[in-house]
Amino acid sequence: MSAPIVQDVLPLPRKLPETDRVNLVGLTRPRLREALIAAGTPEAQAKMRANQLWQWIYQKGVRDFDAMTNLAKDYRALLKDHFAIEVPEIVTRSVSADGTRKYLVRIAGGHEVEVVYIPEDGRGTLCISSQVGCTLTCTFCHTGTQRLVRNLTAAEIVGQVMLARDDLGEWPKPGRNPKDETRLISNLVLMGMGEPLYNFEAVRDAMLIAMDGEGISLSRRRITLSTSGVVPEIERAGREIGCMLAISLHATTDELRNKIVPINRKYPIAQLFEALRAYPKLSNSERITFEYVMLKGVNDSDADARQLVRLISGIPAKINLIPFNEWPGAPYQRSDWDRIEAFANIVYKAGYASPIRTPRGEDIMAACGQLKSATERARKNRFQIAAEAGLPEPERIVRRPDAPDVH
Ligand code: SAH
Ligand code: SF4
Repeated sequence: MSAPIVQDVLPLPRKLPETDRVNLVGLTRPRLREALIAAGTPEAQAKMRANQLWQWIYQKGVRDFDAMTNLAKDYRALLKDHFAIEVPEIVTRSVSADGTRKYLVRIAGGHEVEVVYIPEDGRGTLCISSQVGCTLTCTFCHTGTQRLVRNLTAAEIVGQVMLARDDLGEWPKPGRNPKDETRLISNLVLMGMGEPLYNFEAVRDAMLIAMDGEGISLSRRRITLSTSGVVPEIERAGREIGCMLAISLHATTDELRNKIVPINRKYPIAQLFEALRAYPKLSNSERITFEYVMLKGVNDSDADARQLVRLISGIPAKINLIPFNEWPGAPYQRSDWDRIEAFANIVYKAGYASPIRTPRGEDIMAACGQLKSATERARKNRFQIAAEAGLPEPERIVRRPDAPDVH
């Protein structure tokens, strides 16, 4: 039986923060300026004040208004009355034998997401989440079995970068440009929990903040957004974010992709590729990454590899082969190594880079597709979770006898 496109989820509204102070983290520059004016900053000064705050928050990593020494004392008091500078809280940090770090992070309402830091030679990649859980139901993905879903705010998304910089001690010393530092976090991938294009505005605002040259200052070419193929939003991502794109392809025929990446039933392969061919700045230096999870006996034959090459022909592309990462109860097995290598060779000989992604952090369940928040792993039921989040008791769902099974 094939999975439904979206699962029978329990959407969790955000519990309002205890104070009514506005969090400055996650506001774009124009919104930061507006917020300062609304709090009583004279209009003529608002741009300068916004610039000063921006530098403290995103360049220096300062969270305490009192440390902002270029602001007058009474202005700091006004800021303290109206605003907060808050990033999500690290609940636990696991460090893998291979150096990968996984942070379990708590966001408003007590929900949790995971953030993974992957150090490599010459670069460090931070894998961040865009939603708690995911509404989609790719059959090989652990996150897709999580029934609790809520969109993260822009603050919670860019806050993941900030808390990782805290943990890695990466904020530059005062007066130093972040570009002078050896960057521990040099790349950002939206490949954690969630479908980023189903949380477009928050993801866009967070990425614009991460790219801003006066703060975290990551180049758009070092940010990769991975999508399962939400076609109408791909064009918008090109226009409004302009970052690199990764597509979770995983199958080369609609027949198979419908089954394993169910959003394909809504946006089939031909539509997806039309959107990709139109993606801005596509070139040999700005290629699209295709992610392809290697599932034993499902999508890993020589014929599949040849079909893949035909499908992507004419698109500047790189194929990232991901050995399937197992999770408890997963219905697939990882393809054998010689199979993965044979597949990679066919793609490589056709002229495409075809790196095999080394599974990282498997011992701490941090590898691709293994993320699922501990709230869920503990198998609390949704009544307990709603009670803890301060929400009304959820409705009791009576399943139709013919309803497809979610897992
Ligand atoms: N929702 C987005 C981004 C998060 S998933 C997307 O689907 O693109 C990041 C990548 O890990 C995707 O390519 C996803 O298909 C892949 N993935 C999911 N489960 C996996 C697993 N068990 N083993 C290996 N890769 C997996
Ligand atoms: Fe969601 Fe991506 Fe997992 Fe599919 S692979 S269920 S889109 S997180």
